[in-house]
Amino acid sequence: MDKIVSLSKRRGFIFPGSEIYGGLANTYDYGPVGAELLRNIRNLWWDNFVHKKTDIVGIDASLISHQEVWKASGHATGFADALVDCKNCKLRMRADHLIEDSTKENSEGLNEEKLSEIIRDRRIACPNCGKFNWTEVRKFNLLFPVNLGIIEGDQSLAYLRGETAQGMFINFKNVVDSTRVKLPFGIAQLGKSFRNEITPGNSVFRTLEFEQGEIEYFFDPEVSDWQELFENWKKQMFAFVTETLGVSKDKLKWREHDDKERSFYSKRTVDLEYEFPFGFKELWGLAYRTDYDLKQHSKFSKQDLSITDPQSGKKIAPHVIEPAVGINRLLLTVLCDAYSEIEGRVVLKLSPKIAPYKAAVFPLLANKPELVEKAKKVYEDLRKNFPTYWDDRGNIGKRYLYQDEIGTPYCLTIDFQTLQDVTITVRDRDTAKQERISIDSVSEFIQNNLDA
Ligand code: ATP
Repeated sequence: MDKIVSLSKRRGFIFPGSEIYGGLANTYDYGPVGAELLRNIRNLWWDNFVHKKTDIVGIDASLISHQEVWKASGHATGFADALVDCKNCKLRMRADHLIEDSTKENSEGLNEEKLSEIIRDRRIACPNCGKFNWTEVRKFNLLFPVNLGIIEGDQSLAYLRGETAQGMFINFKNVVDSTRVKLPFGIAQLGKSFRNEITPGNSVFRTLEFEQGEIEYFFDPEVSDWQELFENWKKQMFAFVTETLGVSKDKLKWREHDDKERSFYSKRTVDLEYEFPFGFKELWGLAYRTDYDLKQHSKFSKQDLSITDPQSGKKIAPHVIEPAVGINRLLLTVLCDAYSEIEGRVVLKLSPKIAPYKAAVFPLLANKPELVEKAKKVYEDLRKNFPTYWDDRGNIGKRYLYQDEIGTPYCLTIDFQTLQDVTITVRDRDTAKQERISIDSVSEFIQNNLDA
């Protein structure tokens, strides 16, 4: 993990948040290539799950929402982490993480008493100072409250959203009334969520603010078979991670939530987990949430959130299946999965679809105007279609190494032979092999590799 964190900083993927002021825990900023990578993942998610679907529409809801939203959803009272403090060194940890790290057993969903009991019985020591001197396990709410209004004493409480999902439920009626959707259909959203989490590092795996891609897929349980829909969503999630983002299949596994861990309203929950350098962890959750959310919002808002079947006039309370992923967690996954060291070179084997730059163009020598001019022409032509990097600094070897580290699939060099036969060298990032292709076919070459 240290190598990935160091590469992320060195090459401009991820910087620690507020760094020049000493940093702010669990916040991160994305640098020039990180921002591109994030955007590529985000765009592919939207393209795959909204644009390419005939049964899913997208929305973009507010980050700040009415406190009633979070009372209805259960977050205002129930969205809490069970934390434990080391009285000796003041380390604060999530109790389930402490137990899992030490015993490799999953204890998510257990109550505070049970968690305290496990820590006591197993005599789990503090991972920071090695002492066994814990407080009792206590719950802390994860929602960020915000005070609206500028007059002190006259402010009203709202919350930054803790998940994007509620935006889909509270706009359910608006979407049904303003579009031509018919059950089964999904509402999708991509955007920031905020959770007051404490975490033991691991880069952007768990942060205070993060981007989620969530879909609420609504259906009539009397017409659609939920198990079939569920299996279908599992396939789609797996295909997106492996085929679209290029993550290795053998680093992924499904984990079923048991009765203790699963929320009381959920009939089935599975997590797609990735094997990070710090172990298998949740990447993408899939839950059958029944009609719980819409029912809760109907109750709290006193609005009818059912659908009337146009043919039979029957009232339907739709059920919902929810695939929920963190875009930043996907970014960390692709960074971990792509990181490799080949014969002393650090190579980020990103799929060309998500690589920040699809190609880099170099003149062999920066002090030969005829090479620079020709190379600039290739560069300008390519940039019209693909994000392309220009580099004329230092020697070719150093330029290759830089591009390998930011995951650029191809480096194109304009040399003296180019001036004679209009061919250029294409160097492949993963194999370091070089071949000559005609200048006219460069765009097609890059495009074919993007489509592959
Ligand atoms: P965890 O058990 O890891 O806390 P969760 O089960 O609470 O996650 P969900 O509420 O289901 O997570 O959120 C859906 C997805 O959002 C997760 O699978 C994860 O990819 C991402 N996610 C959740 N919390 C964070 C966070 N603090 N930072 C980054 N990504 C997050």
